[in-house]
Order: sequence, then C-alpha cells, then structure tokens
Amino acid sequence: MEETKFTSQENELLELLTYFKGMIVIDDATPLYNRLILQEEMDHLNNQITDITDFAKEHTAFRNIMDAERIKNWTTRKTIECPHCKTEYSMIPVGEIMLDDGLTYFQYYCDRCFMNFEANQPNNTPDMIVFSERYLADLGNKVSGGKTKQETLGITNDQMRQKRQALINIKETNKKFMTDNHLAVEANSSFMEEIMAELIHWREAKAHFINLQQGGQAN
Ligand SMILES: [Zn+2]
Repeated sequence: MEETKFTSQENELLELLTYFKGMIVIDDATPLYNRLILQEEMDHLNNQITDITDFAKEHTAFRNIMDAERIKNWTTRKTIECPHCKTEYSMIPVGEIMLDDGLTYFQYYCDRCFMNFEANQPNNTPDMIVFSERYLADLGNKVSGGKTKQETLGITNDQMRQKRQALINIKETNKKFMTDNHLAVEANSSFMEEIMAELIHWREAKAHFINLQQGGQAN
C-alpha cells in the first residue's frame, strides 16, 4: 500500500480541522444539552477529516504519476531555440514562470544573449489542454483586415489541417491521460472549496464552542 500523498492545501485543512477538534472540550462541567451539540460538531469535523483523507488516498496514484512526469520534465534535455538569437540548444529548464495567460512555462537560459526565455508551450498536462484549445480557436479568429490569423501567418490549408490534427492529438492524449487517472482538476478544486467554506463556518464557530463549554446558551 503506497503512502497517501496530501497536497499542501489538504494538509492545511487537516491541520485546521484538528485544531478545531482540539477546541471542543466536553467534561463534567458541560451542560447535557450543550454536550450533545458539541458531540455533533465533533462528529462533523471527524467526517470532514475522513472526506479529505479518502479523497487524497483516491488520488495518490495519480499524484505520483504527475510528480514523476514533473521530475522527468525538469530533468530531460530538449532541443530549444532561443527566440532572440535563434541559436539551438540542448538544455534543461532553469526555472518556470506563470505568464499572463495563466499557464506555466519552463524558462531556459541563453548563454549568448545572457537572457532567460520561455518555452513556447506550457510545461504540464492540465495547462497543455487549455493551451491547445486556445491555440486552435485562435487560428480561426479574424485579425485586422478581415483575414484569419491562419491567413496572416501564411499557413496553408494543408499545413493548417496537419497542425490542427497534431494539436487535437496532444489535447486528446492529455485529456485521456487525465481521465484515465480519475482526475478532474475541477472536481478537485470544487471539493476543496466546499471544505474551505465549511472551515470558514468553523472559524466563526470558535467563539460558539467556548461559549458552549462554559455553559452558555446554544444559539
Ligand atoms: Zn539567445
């Protein structure tokens, strides 16, 4: 059985949930009615912890694949052309950067220009799907003069068809890779948002716990 891999967000949530659990003290001084409420809240926190742990367990295999892919990408030499001086290099990335399009690209260093430059496509599978979709849509877009981007770039229909097919293949391969590994990036983030919303509730409940433990009225 492989060790469950938690994301930093999950770890943070688990820490918070444990913290809130620690705030619930049920002892002899706790009035019976409040005791029931506190127990209910304790059960709820425990359920959240179980949900996050189960989710992480379910996604551990996929996360390991993604990590391996990431390590491979960082350490594999690629032939890259510097966009400034057009020199071709076989190199490994020196860093990564999120550009204005919200996608993450590797950065390379040209020792002729003494400058970093970015790769012309993203360095990870989820971003690559978005990139391919945008690129395909963009080629058909009209630019100034009423021509499409394809026409202005002087790409023939044959080249266009090839390029489109290549991009569709990249997109489909990546999508298949993602679904085969039961990953819905969106599902992951909405799941986290749900838990996060709950936690905001718990944060607000802090005073409430203390109040209940001190024999105050439930509200
Ligand atoms: Zn250069």
